[in-house]
Amino acid sequence: MEKVIIAGSGCAGLTAAIYAARANLNPLVLEGRQPGGQLSTTTLVENYPGFPDGIDGPELILTMHRQAEKFGARFSYAEVTDFDGSNKHIRVKADDEWLETQAFIIASGASARYLGLEDEEKLIGHGLTSCATCDGAFYKNVPVCVVGGGDSAAEESLFLTRFASKVYLIHRRDKMRASIIMQERVFANKKIEPIWNTVVTKYVADEKGEMRAVRLRNVKTNEERELPVACVFMAIGHDPNSKPYRGKLDMDGDSYLITKNLVESKHPGVFVAGDVADRIYKQAVTAAGSGCAAAMDAEKYLSELESHA
Ligand code: NAP
Repeated sequence: MEKVIIAGSGCAGLTAAIYAARANLNPLVLEGRQPGGQLSTTTLVENYPGFPDGIDGPELILTMHRQAEKFGARFSYAEVTDFDGSNKHIRVKADDEWLETQAFIIASGASARYLGLEDEEKLIGHGLTSCATCDGAFYKNVPVCVVGGGDSAAEESLFLTRFASKVYLIHRRDKMRASIIMQERVFANKKIEPIWNTVVTKYVADEKGEMRAVRLRNVKTNEERELPVACVFMAIGHDPNSKPYRGKLDMDGDSYLITKNLVESKHPGVFVAGDVADRIYKQAVTAAGSGCAAAMDAEKYLSELESHA
């Protein structure tokens, strides 16, 4: 029987692990398929307090990981695939094995969204990706495109200018939703060419199954054209990783878990932190904050359990 299991090892999960470990709860962190969460696939983080010159996302996450380990957190690469809260103890399926725990913190984050076009699955890794940091360097001196108009699209476009000959920023509207500072950087960069009011309708692969071009449609004029690109970088937001809890915990229409008092789920002993429940802020620092709250509430819950035992 575990005292605390934490699902997810992004900013929220690792902060929960630091707090739970420092409270001597010996937490077990199930890291899942994307250890480190979204920060591990990003570049310079300029708005995490305490780093006036910014810090690389992967470095920030590794530092948090070390900090949690130092206080006794344990880590496993298993992914939560199922959850059962119907008995006295909470049961969590980690890959194929059921584990029992007194408290459970869900910090499973969110995963990159794709467009749902034909051949998408086949092209991921063959000129279709959601991670410029991971794959950008493979596309030197060739044209690429980024789809989206938020901060991620801005950040990925800027990063890709280091490698690509040209970066087309394809956005479905004529205004970005990215922060002003990021927009200014995008517009000042001569290598980036925004293509407004436009959606990708088809991926075009070559005979080896590698991305060769995208088919575009202007949503105002309905005009269609083909744009040669060697890679498409998707930056159209994320979907919460909440599948194991469907029908068991409250979630909204977009599958974000619903919490009360910041991190409480409807199930006693189950707490929720970070992007899996956050459809508004989605920042590293807000995820860390809710991870802290979840661990503190789990600790309080466990001491109440003990005092009633
Ligand atoms: P986001 O802000 O939700 O932006 C998603 C973008 O993709 C929007 O421009 C949206 O268009 C577009 N989009 C969504 N679905 C689409 C579809 N099916 N087809 C075409 N376009 C679609 O997501 P994000 O950029 O990943 O950012 C998420 C959060 O992380 C934000 O709060 C952001 O501030 C934060 N973030 C911050 C930084 C930073 O501070 N450096 C970096 C990355 C992310 P519309 O605009 O028309 O809705």
